[in-house]
Amino acid sequence: MNITQINGYHLRFKPAEPLGNARTFIRERNFLALEVKTDAGLSGWGEVFSSPWAAAALIQRQMAKEVINRSPLDHGVIYARLLGSIGYDKRGASMMAISALDMAMHDLAARAQNISVAQLLGGVVRDALPCYASGPFIREGADPYAHYERDIERYLKQGFKAVKPRAGISPRADAKMAERVRSSIGDDLEFMIDINQGYSSAAASQAVQMIEHTRPLWVEEPVHPEDLEGYQRVANATTIPIAGGEALGSLASFNAFIASGAPTVLQPDLTVCGGFTGYRKAAALAEAREICAMPHAFGTGINFCASLQMAAATPTRHYGLSAPYPWVEYDPTGNPLIELCDISLDSNGLITLPPGPGLGLELSPDHLTPWIVEHWSVNSP
Ligand SMILES: [Mg+2]
Repeated sequence: MNITQINGYHLRFKPAEPLGNARTFIRERNFLALEVKTDAGLSGWGEVFSSPWAAAALIQRQMAKEVINRSPLDHGVIYARLLGSIGYDKRGASMMAISALDMAMHDLAARAQNISVAQLLGGVVRDALPCYASGPFIREGADPYAHYERDIERYLKQGFKAVKPRAGISPRADAKMAERVRSSIGDDLEFMIDINQGYSSAAASQAVQMIEHTRPLWVEEPVHPEDLEGYQRVANATTIPIAGGEALGSLASFNAFIASGAPTVLQPDLTVCGGFTGYRKAAALAEAREICAMPHAFGTGINFCASLQMAAATPTRHYGLSAPYPWVEYDPTGNPLIELCDISLDSNGLITLPPGPGLGLELSPDHLTPWIVEHWSVNSP
C-alpha cells in the first residue's frame, strides 16, 4: 500500500460571536484538512490548526515528495526523513506540516489493519474519556466576563464536569470572575483558567495569588510560551498547577519547558507538536517527571478524534482528581467543524471513543463542502 495523492482543503467559518482571549478576538477560523490517499483506496486525515497556509505550502512544495509512493506503515521512517528535511524552522510551520502528515499516516496505518489509532499506539487504556468545555470566551464591551455564568450553565446542562474560562483582563477582574465561576459550578465540579500567553510574569504572579482561593484545577499559559523564567516565577508564586505546551513544536522546546520545573500539566497539540509521533516523545519527557500529558485541541473534528485516540491510549494518572488524567479539551462554541465527528457527551462528562478504524472519523471531502475556500492536490508523478 503506497501513498498516491495528497489533498489539501482550506476551511473557514466565522464564529457567531468573536471568541476573545487575553491576546486577541478570533473573528474568523481557518484550518487545513489534509487527506492522504493510497493505491489501496484508503484515505487518512490530518489537520493543521495554526498557520494552515504556510504549512500547506511546505507540504505541497517540499514535503509531499518524501511521502508520495511510500507506505504509510513506514510513518516512523517518513517522520524522521521529514524532520531531517527541515532546515531552520524546527518549531513553527514546518512542524505543523509534519504534524498533519503524521496524523494522516497513523489514520491510514490503523485503517489498513482495521484497528483504531489507539490500538496502533499500543491499545485502549480507557474507551470513555473525560472531556472539558473549553470556554467561555471573552466578549467585546464594558464587561467582558458578564455572560460567563450563562455559558457555563449551558455547558453543565450538556454534561461537562469541567469548564475552562478565558481570563487575562486584569488580575483583579480575573479574581472576581473566578469567584463567580466557583460559586456557579459549586465545589464538586472543576474549572481551569486560560490566560493564553497574555500576561507578563509579574501580572500573572499577581493573578494566580488573587485567584488561588477559588481553587482552579490549573492556570494555563500565564505567559509567553518561551518565557521559561516567567513560567518559573508564576509557578513559584502559587500552589495552583501551571499548564502549558500547546504552542510548542520541537522536542527540544518541550524538553526545556519540562526541565524548567514550572509546568505540572503538559498540553501538546497533535497538530503542532509533530502528530502522534511528536506527542509521544513529548509525553515521555513529561512522564519522567510524573507529569501527565493531555491533548490540547481547538480545531476541527479531525484533531478532536485524534486527541481522543491519543488520550485513550495513555495510561491514566489519578493524582487525587475527580476523574483520572488525561482529560480531553472540547470546543463548545458552536464550531460546525467539530461536529464532523460522530461523538456524544454522556451525563458523566465522558465521550466514548468512536467504534470505527483509524481516527474513528468517517470523513469524505463532500462533508467539508460548505466550508472549503480552496482545494489543492499533489499526485504521484
Ligand atoms: Mg490554551
